[in-house]
Formats: sequence, C-alpha cells, structure tokens
Amino acid sequence: MPNSLIIAIDGPSGSGKSSVSRAVATELGLDYLDTGSMYRAMTWFIQNLGIDVTDAESVATAAKAEVIQPSIDPSEPGIRVSGRDVSMEIRGPEVTQGVSAVSAVPAVRELMVNLQREIAAKSQTGIVVEGRDICAVVLPQAPVKLFITADPQARANRRAKENGAEVSSTKDDLAKRDLADSTRTISPLEVAPGARVIDTTHMELSEVIAQVVDLARAAHG
Ligand code: C5P
Repeated sequence: MPNSLIIAIDGPSGSGKSSVSRAVATELGLDYLDTGSMYRAMTWFIQNLGIDVTDAESVATAAKAEVIQPSIDPSEPGIRVSGRDVSMEIRGPEVTQGVSAVSAVPAVRELMVNLQREIAAKSQTGIVVEGRDICAVVLPQAPVKLFITADPQARANRRAKENGAEVSSTKDDLAKRDLADSTRTISPLEVAPGARVIDTTHMELSEVIAQVVDLARAAHG
C-alpha cells in the first residue's frame, strides 16, 4: 500500500471498531492509533495527581500532551504515561467512569487532537486512527471515513464477554457513556459528513475486516 493512506474510524464502544481497526492495520501494513486509549491515559494521569475529574478547570490546568505516549504498532498496542505502561490500568472501572468527564474538557481535546494529527502526519506507512471525532475533527481529509456501530444489546454482549463482566450492568455503563459522549457540546459522537456507516450487529468480525480492507484498497487505487 503506498504512503499516506489514512483510515479514520469512529463509533461507540463495543461496536467492534478496535478489533477491526487493528486487524485492518495489520493486514495493510499500516500504523494504528487508538485515540480512546489516549483519553483514558489522560484520565489516569489526572486521577493519579489526585484531581477530581469533574473539576474541569483543574483538569484543564493539569493536562499535558507530552506525558501521553501511545504505541502505534498494531501488533503491540498499548500506552505509557511519562514512560510508565498503563495499558492495563486504563481499562479499569475508575478510569472508565472518569473518562467521559475528562474528554469533555476543551483544553484536553485540543491537546489530544493536536497530538493525534502529529502522529498521523509522521506515519511513514499510513495509519488507521480510531475514536469518536476522527472523521469530523481530527482527520476530515482522510480518504476512508467510517462509522462502525452495532445495536446496544450486541455491543453490551461483546464488551461483557471481553471483560468477563455482567451483560446488564455493562449495557447500563455503555448507555451512560454513549449519552455523555453524544450530548457533549464539543465534538460529540456522531456520524460525520462523508462517513460510511457499517452496522456490525449481524456481521462476523472477519466480514467487517474484509469490507474495510476492500474500501481502503478501492480508495487508494
Ligand atoms: O474507545 P474507548 O471506549 O476506549 O474511549 C474511551 C472514552 O474516550 C470515550 O467514552 C470518550 O469519552 C473518549 N473519546 C473521545 N474521543 C475520541 C476517543 C475517545 O472523546 N476520539
């Protein structure tokens, strides 16, 4: 695949977008950036400083871009905060409950969006970037823009299976996060103009991957 292919993928959690993004990056030899992990790592950083995530002013003052160090290798995704590997900790309940508040702070978004654009611009191979606002805000010029979704029950089933958690509480958590992420005033989760919607409710992962790879090849000649 020639240089500079950018694939932007948005969607809610449990839609399969992370698995699809990683697999597509691997298959096409591209870098991979999970922007959700960046907001989670920032949340971990803020919480670790003892700051209340609902105190937007203190969050804005404390937030720094240079401490957030994501891997862009699809075979070894992960993230560090000032050199410390927090890949596991950022999946825990404390970060998961705090992340919507932190990611709604405009100063945090500005720092993260700039860092994401910088990482995409530096990529030698091209990159798959996944998140909530990638198509509309971070990389609107991407030749492939997708919104990967699934119905709430399917998403809760998948997430619960992944985390070994209970389906009904997972469904409640997802609904809360969806609501917070889609009703915030800055960069809400929504289908961007020009993005193609892929509903994975009744699709196997392999089918979704194949469809995205085909779209990428078609867009890139
Ligand atoms: O994708 P993941 O569920 O790990 O994302 C965690 C949270 O990070 C989301 O619920 C959302 O609040 C935030 N996020 C965001 N913008 C992105 C990616 C994630 O606001 N581009």
